[in-house]
Amino acid sequence: MSRTLNDIPLPDSKGYFGEYGGSYIPEVLQKVMDEITEAYLQIKQDKSFQEELQSLYRHYVGRPSALFHARNLSKKIGGAQIYLKREDLNHTGAHKINHCLGEALLAKRMGKEILIAETGAGQHGVALATAAALVGLECHIYMGEVDIAKEHPNVTRMKILGAKVIPVTRGTRTLKDAVDAAFEAYLEDPIRQIYAIGSVVGPHPFPMMVRDFQQIVGTEARQQFLEMTGRLPDNLVACVGGGSNAIGIFTAFLNDESVSIYGVEPSGRGLTGGDHAATLSLGKPGIMHGFRSYMLQDENGMPLPVYSVASGLDYPGVGPQHSLLKDLNRVNYVTAGDKDTIDAFFELSRVEGIIPALESCHAVAYAMELAATLSAEDTILVNLSGRGDKDLDFVMENYGKDYGCE
Ligand SMILES: *Cc1c(COP(=O)(O)O)cnc(C)c1O
Repeated sequence: MSRTLNDIPLPDSKGYFGEYGGSYIPEVLQKVMDEITEAYLQIKQDKSFQEELQSLYRHYVGRPSALFHARNLSKKIGGAQIYLKREDLNHTGAHKINHCLGEALLAKRMGKEILIAETGAGQHGVALATAAALVGLECHIYMGEVDIAKEHPNVTRMKILGAKVIPVTRGTRTLKDAVDAAFEAYLEDPIRQIYAIGSVVGPHPFPMMVRDFQQIVGTEARQQFLEMTGRLPDNLVACVGGGSNAIGIFTAFLNDESVSIYGVEPSGRGLTGGDHAATLSLGKPGIMHGFRSYMLQDENGMPLPVYSVASGLDYPGVGPQHSLLKDLNRVNYVTAGDKDTIDAFFELSRVEGIIPALESCHAVAYAMELAATLSAEDTILVNLSGRGDKDLDFVMENYGKDYGCE
């Protein structure tokens, strides 16, 4: 394995993971990012901050999240033993609360008053609104009008939590336009407001900071797996949208050479048409949204439209550390399509009684495929990033009949 991972801290002081990451933003914004970096590096060493965060993880989020041996599923496949790291059991139902709490506490310590962010399906918005309510900050969520109409329950949740949901009416009225609107609003008042990015993407320090807040997932899972089985997993699998839940569980295992690691991107309706979001599988390095990474881009370097049955995975970029891990061949980036994802959704629901988020189902689908090629002594640890409550109506409407729901 590469020396880079063992010996060199990542990212470097400029926010680079090898040639990826960095900060490609206007001068005014750079000053703000430098301030956030400085504040973050300070609180990272601060014992009282770390204790406060750990205490919230335990008593508010419900950490450590369980590790579960999915015996029924493993037996039915007849190959490797599958284990699930249950991030779906966290308060708010996914891993996102881990970094939203970190960002909210940081904002509070920096004397900020308003957390702002964009949201697509509303998952990041809900997690951030939750953290803002707890920590005592205002929360402004920018959301495309089209998404607002589609994601009614999450919009309602954010409002009940006290957040302001600001409809974005320009362009396609979806996530991309919400990002632009939120950034413009941020630039108008970067003193009182702080932008809370929802994954390990964006300019430095966000890929580093969000990763650090998510590392708890892998740290817990490694220890739990050792306690439960007496050894490390042979394989580790997580889905990759921006890449936060994946890097969160991968980090603790990167130096364990015996562990094969898989990041699963959505191939949607297939890799040959345009309906996918397989950034690392089919993209090329470029600059987008303030950082350098693999991107799905047209010949002019503009983001290509992306698609997945799981809206939390349809992003044309990916966290810069994943790009480096791909180039170093430390992580295998693979894909799962809509159909296998829906199969995995019903399979896990019916044989284990766990209804997973469609994003997480991409990891489950790949793990099921991999398990079938292995023997009963082999093990696979899957990061189950979230629960499927948000997906129930969509799945029922589009696939219920095919799976015997009358
Ligand atoms: C948002 C989300 C994802 C995708 O984001 P990453 O940053 O790639 O982890 C995955 N799973 C769930 C449940 C989500 O809500």
